[in-house]
Amino acid sequence: NLRIGVVGLPNVGKSTFFNAITSSAVAAENYPFCTIDPEESRVAVPDERLDWLFANYKTGNRTPAYLAVIDIAGLVKGASEGHGLGNSFLSHINAVDGIFHVVRAFVDPDVVHVEGEVDPARDLDIIHNELRLKDTAMLNKYIDANQRNIERMGDGGSVEDRRKKDDFAVVVKVRDWVQQGNDVRKGDWTNKEIEVINVHHLLTAKPVTYLANVSEKDYLRKKNKFLPITKKWIDDNNPGDKLIPFSGAFETAIAAMDEPQRAEHLAANGNATSAFPKIITTGYDSLSLMHFFTAGVMEVRAWTCRKGVKMTDAARSIHNDIANSLIQVDVMKFDDLKAASSEAELKAAGKLIIRGKDARIEDGDIVYFRSGE
Ligand code: GDP
Repeated sequence: NLRIGVVGLPNVGKSTFFNAITSSAVAAENYPFCTIDPEESRVAVPDERLDWLFANYKTGNRTPAYLAVIDIAGLVKGASEGHGLGNSFLSHINAVDGIFHVVRAFVDPDVVHVEGEVDPARDLDIIHNELRLKDTAMLNKYIDANQRNIERMGDGGSVEDRRKKDDFAVVVKVRDWVQQGNDVRKGDWTNKEIEVINVHHLLTAKPVTYLANVSEKDYLRKKNKFLPITKKWIDDNNPGDKLIPFSGAFETAIAAMDEPQRAEHLAANGNATSAFPKIITTGYDSLSLMHFFTAGVMEVRAWTCRKGVKMTDAARSIHNDIANSLIQVDVMKFDDLKAASSEAELKAAGKLIIRGKDARIEDGDIVYFRSGE
């Protein structure tokens, strides 16, 4: 179950975002949305290929991939030292796979800003620092607890000792990187270093998608004076991370409308659309995941696995038994299937591909896993 946590300073629009996405009628028309608990909302990851398969296989069920969105309150300046709700937010951030970082980019005299004037770059700095301080503290704790032991080992030592020393050196290297102002995920780490990093569940290792909450007016005219500095902050500090503008006010308004009313409202506003599908897909992509599909008479279904894994590992997303007894995989490429217009036509055209269990699965593959009898 994949989870993305919503973080940001107080009063930037986190709850508004969360509530609108939970009750989003646009999405609810097309996908089952369901609330698991007040702070967690399950949303379907939009995928046009799944829609096409559903329409063409004429099956009873369509099961999309889901993403859980979690509202994480309590991140304020000084939170890493126990201010505000203090450390309680940390266990929540620790439990998510990725982060939606909401920054305020709307001016409204009725909504106070905890830090004074609206200034997304300052807000980004505050949250960025809190998360880094927390990572530094966690790594320092490990370093303090192990330092003497490592020093006692000296130069030689057993294989086990050398492994401990190597791991320790990696932790020190990562701590220095974070202390110098960087997020862990932006480091250029070797696979061995990544293994050590993964053990420590660091906050700044998680992928971040930045969401700028702009006024309804700015969202509709696609212009906002705070976006350039927000973009610049991201390019300077965490290049490659995505920034998506949305409007809490606009999303709340359209989520509350029924379908004809909404269609009319959107048409009257230059065919505006909700930012949610893009936000969900971008958040999903940030987790380095991909979809593959199974399609049959009972159900078409999107499955999730890490990009670039072997067929066996992809099969494990469905069931361990399938993975363990996997012999070969029948693969249809989505574009081939669409061009052929049906599975039978695709097979007749000789486009069914047989792959071994160690082959790499690719995004959009429609697979049939063949197991040993
Ligand atoms: P949180 O503390 O980050 O969860 O912020 P909230 O979602 O509670 O929002 C704080 C205040 O800002 C509330 O009064 C919202 O109605 C308001 N707000 C949220 N989004 C917008 C927006 O796009 N425009 C305006 N004008 N107000 C907004």
